[in-house]
Amino acid sequence: MAVVLRVYKFRLYPTHAQEAALGTLLGRLRFFYNAALQERRDGYRQGVKVTRATQEKAITVVKHDPDCPDYAGIHTHLLQDVLKRLDLAFDAFFRRIKAGGTPGYPRFKRRGRYETFTLKDAGKGNGAAVVSGGARVRLHGIGNVKIKQHREMEGVLKTLGVTRDGDGHWYALITREVPAKPLPATGVSVGIDVGLTTFAALSDGELVANPRPLKTVRIAVERAQRKVSRRKRGSKRRGKARRLLAGRHAHVRNTRKDFHHKTARAIVQKYDRIAVEDLNVNGLARGMLAQSVHDAGWSQFVAILTSKAEEAGREVKRVDPNGTSQECSACGERVPKALGVRVHRCPCGYTEDRDVNAARNIHDRAFAVTGLGRSLRGGAPARDSGDPRSPYLTVGR
Ligand SMILES: [Zn+2]
Repeated sequence: MAVVLRVYKFRLYPTHAQEAALGTLLGRLRFFYNAALQERRDGYRQGVKVTRATQEKAITVVKHDPDCPDYAGIHTHLLQDVLKRLDLAFDAFFRRIKAGGTPGYPRFKRRGRYETFTLKDAGKGNGAAVVSGGARVRLHGIGNVKIKQHREMEGVLKTLGVTRDGDGHWYALITREVPAKPLPATGVSVGIDVGLTTFAALSDGELVANPRPLKTVRIAVERAQRKVSRRKRGSKRRGKARRLLAGRHAHVRNTRKDFHHKTARAIVQKYDRIAVEDLNVNGLARGMLAQSVHDAGWSQFVAILTSKAEEAGREVKRVDPNGTSQECSACGERVPKALGVRVHRCPCGYTEDRDVNAARNIHDRAFAVTGLGRSLRGGAPARDSGDPRSPYLTVGR
């Protein structure tokens, strides 16, 4: 049976001593990260290739080095996890270069910027385990930490991570392998375009609006931000203002995440095959539009959508979005338009919302709808998305 990974996040309640130990551990992992990054930089300058593999070999040496006593007691998997994270930072860096950007070189982690660690083999009780009937997690070198499980977990434990948020709260990230639950086929496919004014446009004409509460909350965030800047550095009142700000940021994050889950669930229910923009080839997230795109949290949404789709046995396809807003989805002609032009109006007679037209192109690129499919579909947009007889929705399958 097909299986998928699901992550559960539960609050941890460490004792004072455990909390101090966790903080110290994160500090050492951060230091190790920075040292590994430094070694890669130096290697690059001197023309010596330093890779994750060569650095992993050095872990044993570090752990037995009398000059590094702090590292002797740290689980090997945690140090391997640090190198994996560093590798991910480099991967992202090279991917952005390949996409034609000018990204910054991976940076050293300041205090407060290295807040998560993962034990990859917790499923076998290696370094971590869920104990006391789910009331505690056992962490290597820390002890048994109280956990609040607010919902039942399914499946088989794989990995266990620990993370600290901006408020200083600790959480367990528990990854479990759960059996996939395929949804019945609907015979309907869809393309989705990232919106700036709306959250997303679907190829069947549906527009998904941005969650409204977010705007209200953002005003509260800005107010809290100003409060922090007014307070004197290092003062108690500034600390208090900062905690307020962190809480409001967390609220925005949670609201957005809920919205992403809800939207993704609805889309996965309705469509068998889902096409989205491949963000790695998208130049949009850079420059002027960065803020709006970032706000819409598109990449988080796509990650949630992909994981839900996988669990439901649906297909998600990523396509190069280049030119999708300029092309006519009815006849294929290029119809150049400025960013502010919200309507696609083609000489062929096809008129459509700019983003819906782009979503239709994304759909067609993913599922190779060409000449015949386009002419079968014709210029008239299929607005009644629920109708499986609509030519637009069935063509391309
Ligand atoms: Zn046209």
